[in-house]
Amino acid sequence: MIQALGASQGIAIGKAFVLPHWEWELPEQKIDVADLAKEFDRLYEGIRRSKTEINRMRTELDEVVGSEEASIFDAHLAILEDPVFMNEIQGIIQRQYKVAEVAVKEAIDHFVTMFDLLDDEYMKERALDIKDVGNRLLKHLLGAPDIALPEDTQPFVLVVRELSPSQLVHLKPELVLGIVTMVGSPTSHSAIMARAFGIPMVMGVEGKLEQPIGTGDLIIIDGGTGMLQVDPTSDMVSRYTELRKRQIADREQLLTLAQVPAVTQDGVSLTLAANISSLKELEAALSNGAVGVGLFRTEFLYMDRVRFPSEEEQFEVYRAVAQKLKGETLIIRTLDIGGDKQLDYHELPEEENPFLGFRAIRFSLERKDLFKTQLRAILRASHFGDVQIMYPLITSVDEVREANEVLEEAKSELAQEGISFRQDTKAGIMIEVPAAVAIADLLAEEVAFFSIGTNDLIQFTLAVDRMNEQISHMYEPYHPAILRMLRTVANSAKSRGIPVSVCGEIAGDVNALPIWIGLGIEELSLSAQAILPVKQSMLRTRASDCRKLLEDMFRCKTAGEVRALATQFYAEAALSPGNVQPRK
Ligand code: PEP
Ligand code: MG
Repeated sequence: MIQALGASQGIAIGKAFVLPHWEWELPEQKIDVADLAKEFDRLYEGIRRSKTEINRMRTELDEVVGSEEASIFDAHLAILEDPVFMNEIQGIIQRQYKVAEVAVKEAIDHFVTMFDLLDDEYMKERALDIKDVGNRLLKHLLGAPDIALPEDTQPFVLVVRELSPSQLVHLKPELVLGIVTMVGSPTSHSAIMARAFGIPMVMGVEGKLEQPIGTGDLIIIDGGTGMLQVDPTSDMVSRYTELRKRQIADREQLLTLAQVPAVTQDGVSLTLAANISSLKELEAALSNGAVGVGLFRTEFLYMDRVRFPSEEEQFEVYRAVAQKLKGETLIIRTLDIGGDKQLDYHELPEEENPFLGFRAIRFSLERKDLFKTQLRAILRASHFGDVQIMYPLITSVDEVREANEVLEEAKSELAQEGISFRQDTKAGIMIEVPAAVAIADLLAEEVAFFSIGTNDLIQFTLAVDRMNEQISHMYEPYHPAILRMLRTVANSAKSRGIPVSVCGEIAGDVNALPIWIGLGIEELSLSAQAILPVKQSMLRTRASDCRKLLEDMFRCKTAGEVRALATQFYAEAALSPGNVQPRK
């Protein structure tokens, strides 16, 4: 039995499907003059395969979304027939004796750099097309596998070295019983998504296995405890099958609370909204009783596709979510790309520290064309519900003002075009960087609301990379520094009269509930699976006890002491499901 990191609750028992490692290494060797013709043949074969694949995708897309979207692939086919692009590749092979893969990579880099330098949107789009089609050609030359599902498409436990959010989007989540990753940590975005889909997940298995897991091996994982067992005994299979049944029954029991208001025993209420990244996740959130959406992570709309989504495409999704919410608030966060969230079709610069790099609002303010497209789509959706805008990774008042300028431009454009939207659409910010905490009083004067993103705030405050499993024990939400930061933000918001919510993953930790109630925070935004356990705890909690507990927590000097107080609080109240004693 292996003990790794539990990243998403639940038990999965099933056959493993091991995803091949598809990081591409380019061969370094030069080719012999005598082999030039053979190398050209390899290149042409790669091109032929790429064209077949593109044609197939074109037909599929045409059936699903129509010919306008599918026509992007015509541009890809044209590149594979473009004499300038092809001459560049052939020239590198012929004159420098480089293998076809290296020649293709160098040609892509050459044209992409050239087009990127031009101040012309159309040419920049062409650079994206070249990159996309060039990567496809590379894949075929290297014989690299696509992310392909098992042939028989039976549900499986996915085993993968590392999983990016776009890969997870690409797989069919309904077939994935569970996920095991060799590296990564529970606050990565793929883990957040696994929780949203309710898929059990265990991470950080590397170095713990005696033998690699093979496709077809029977495995059991417990995403709550981080347990992994390869080739379990039949006794173990029946024990975990039983445990799984019990967990499902507990979950069904919890569902009876979906429509019950979230109020403490002494009458303090908390809005429990949802974190979502797609319309599909909204369904799960609503059936778990979510009241509105406190964080719509829009970056996932930008993934698993071949180019940036158009205003119309985004508008359709935002409007559909707003309409489903029937007047409840929908907070749409503008694109938070970068860090562990990358786009296949838009290569961000290589960075030593991507979480500290060119991401989120920094990207939007640099690419105002894309930013404005998104803002226009959100504003148009504002006509259909209580839609609000949220900017990620704000570090200064200047960024807020600059973002708001683009927002104002988007508004005047729409007004001029006679398109309906709400002129008073609120714009708020994520507080997820220590700088924003330090100037929370100043920021509160500029924005309509705060939402505390503890996932990033903890990593930046404690200087602990949220993706690094080696130091994941240092990623400590109960650190006194974090408590003080939360208090500063809550007080600044309160004194300026703006609402403040918490939308990081720690909001879903039931033991942290007294902190929010004690601080007077009025809204939590949670992944669907966390809503009902948090509500259940609320119903058994007294706000007056929380305030006292928080005072005790502020007297603690170490994270261990704070955590112990938090755990004891509910342990005393015997809050485990099915064994509940309301706290008096
Ligand atoms: C956060 O940082 O807490 C947050 C909610 O944003 P994300 O997890 O998408 O970075
Ligand atoms: Mg964040």
